[in-house]
Amino acid sequence: MSKQQQDLFQPDPAPWEVDDANERLIATVVFPEPPHGPFDYAVPPSLCPTVAAGKRVRVPLGRGNRSVDAWCVQVEYGRVVTRRLKEVRAVLDDQPLLSPSMLRLTEWISEHYLCPRGVVLEAVVPAGVRTAAGTRATAFLSVPTRVSARITQLKLPTKQLQALKILAASPEPLTAQQLAAAARCTLSPIHQLRDKGLIEIQMRRVQTTEVAERAEDADSRRPLNRDQQQALDAIREVLNSGRHETLLLYGVTGSGKTEVYIRAIEELIQFGRQAIVLVPEISLTPQTRQRFRSRFERVAVLHSHLSDAERHWHWQRIARGEIQVVVGARSAVFAPTPQLGMIVLDEEHDASFKQDQVPRYHAREVALQRARAEGVPLVLGSATPSLESWYRAQQGEFRLLKLPARVLDRPLPDVMTVDLRLEHQQRHSRGAISRQLQQAVDQALRDGGQVILLLNRRGYSTSIQCPSCGHVIRCRDCDIALTHHRAENLAVCHYCDYRIATPDICPECRFAGIRFAGQGTQRLEQELKERFPGVAALRMDSDTMQRPGSHEQALAAFRAGEIRILFGTQMIAKGLDFPNVTLVGVINADTALHFPDFRAAERTFQLVTQVAGRTGRGERGGRVLVQTFSPEHPAIQAAIRHDYDTFAAQELPVRQQFHYPPAASMVRIIVRGPVETEAEEFADSLTGRLHAAKNAANAEVRILGPAPAPIAKLQSKFRFHTLLQSQDLPALRAIVRTATADLQPPGEVQWIVDVDPLNLL
Ligand code: ADP
Ligand code: ZN
Repeated sequence: MSKQQQDLFQPDPAPWEVDDANERLIATVVFPEPPHGPFDYAVPPSLCPTVAAGKRVRVPLGRGNRSVDAWCVQVEYGRVVTRRLKEVRAVLDDQPLLSPSMLRLTEWISEHYLCPRGVVLEAVVPAGVRTAAGTRATAFLSVPTRVSARITQLKLPTKQLQALKILAASPEPLTAQQLAAAARCTLSPIHQLRDKGLIEIQMRRVQTTEVAERAEDADSRRPLNRDQQQALDAIREVLNSGRHETLLLYGVTGSGKTEVYIRAIEELIQFGRQAIVLVPEISLTPQTRQRFRSRFERVAVLHSHLSDAERHWHWQRIARGEIQVVVGARSAVFAPTPQLGMIVLDEEHDASFKQDQVPRYHAREVALQRARAEGVPLVLGSATPSLESWYRAQQGEFRLLKLPARVLDRPLPDVMTVDLRLEHQQRHSRGAISRQLQQAVDQALRDGGQVILLLNRRGYSTSIQCPSCGHVIRCRDCDIALTHHRAENLAVCHYCDYRIATPDICPECRFAGIRFAGQGTQRLEQELKERFPGVAALRMDSDTMQRPGSHEQALAAFRAGEIRILFGTQMIAKGLDFPNVTLVGVINADTALHFPDFRAAERTFQLVTQVAGRTGRGERGGRVLVQTFSPEHPAIQAAIRHDYDTFAAQELPVRQQFHYPPAASMVRIIVRGPVETEAEEFADSLTGRLHAAKNAANAEVRILGPAPAPIAKLQSKFRFHTLLQSQDLPALRAIVRTATADLQPPGEVQWIVDVDPLNLL
């Protein structure tokens, strides 16, 4: 339809609504807070040269026209016909904070995850960049051409003339201090020149924070083995083709996946391109940093302990193309590399790649979208690929590359189970460590090896119960049993950190003789002290690793051999490479097995396989003992045989049968509120709307619920959830969009939408 035709369909504007200039620049903006927009604003002529998509602008909002900062997402010439648009008041950024392709990526995230675009933008551009942390606005002086052309004719005091001449001759604008130093004068002649209008002032932000980067020793380059070479060749082929493809690098623990990434990156940086390597936050160890720093000259490591100023500094260097490799956790997928060459997601199965607050994005999906848009390869690496990625490889969407063996023909460790049912019947041991495990630890220590023990529960006892009346001490605010922390004699909620002094008398029936049950890492610590006196052991969990740097220190001490036994939660299962570890023990493989979550088996398989992979990485070999009450469970059976293929082959049909991911898409809606009935009623009515939207669209969508969430109360809020499942994600999203449009929850009730949820508790 032509513009003229279009106008025929517009009602005639009232005379006072007609804008004088018909054709005007229009900025479309979104807000991080409600109302999110998008809204159109007219750009006044004075701002036309500076306004641009990807910059922030200040605009009037609402009846009172208060000034609000917004993100400009589009700038276009358009006709202002029917109504007078409000005008943009100011442009806040000198340069766009997002490139056109990153802007499109934010649009995709916003649509895919049903999250307002303004919220996405605030997540993509770090706070330190938005506030220009670590910079100072500085005045720079220069001589306008109309003045420099007639400098010789000016009648000025000597000092002023001299300063003016020096400034005119300078190839770069100077600060007043720099000019004073160069002209050997005070600031006053410079001020006088300014007052006479002979010099021009420009404000620019200069960086005041510099991050010192430590150089690392060069690491030797090893010849690749045949499987590694084949994987590299496949990645290289995609790199050279200039098109996108996702490669799933399925390599057992210790098979040399990182070496393959590094070689591929070495190749692409020769063409002036950059790589982004995403790893789980916990893997951002000095070991990882060192590996990349020793092989590349300019590496940016983005971890969560950076200050705003440091983050901004890295961002600037990345955006200028000065960085070859960005290594970081989840949000590094947004690194503003100007010429992206490849994205790698290492340990792609790791749950930390999904953000558990808005925007609830998964870095793998965002990376896939970005790699597609920029026509570059995405490499996903894991010894235990997520079933999502495995399924896509089977469907032919991803290319599967395998590294089936460890480097240097090292064998995978022998894994044996210890049946805790027998152990308990025969009363061989009290406590967490079975007789077999005790013997194995003794043996490993005697042979000079090191030991890793996994117990995925922190605290001392995981439940506090009265043996007389059965009362379990629970959190006041959450539907969770409190954990006894013996060192502080506190009962702690692991969801909200509510703490009370551990009672020794049952608060219900006054029985004196509370019983502590369930093993936590603190209790294991006690037991290790008793069983292995004098052996240096270190607990690693989120209680002991709170200070920045403590995790790194602990690992350094373990590497140096000062610590013989490292024990703790899943933190110790991830990516660590210590050649001297000859024994891994899993204290209880069942902790996650019976969670009300369809991924419980997958998580258990991953955890056991990953922790088992921490041993036998050196020349001395290694073994693994897995204590379990269900040694015959398929997930545990597959893990002890290092048999991912069989695990996946058993698990996928189950997912298919129950329409769970990856066989179908899923959306979870949580309603929460301080009054139970109110939250429940709202969950009911929201679910009613979902059914109505589904019927209207005649869509193949399954709606389950509402039901109380497995964690039915969290931080004083009652929680209800509804699950939606479908083969057709766009239809699913459309239904949620329709059902939640103009949704107004009562009082303090809130609702959240989680697309592709990982957490179902
Ligand atoms: P993964 O990431 O698959 O667990 P890594 O890349 O960490 O494996 O490699 C494990 C160890 O083997 C590292 O110490 C690495 O330096 C070493 N390595 C990698 N490739 C080779 C190779 N081709 N020859 C010898 N050692 C290798
Ligand atoms: Zn709590």
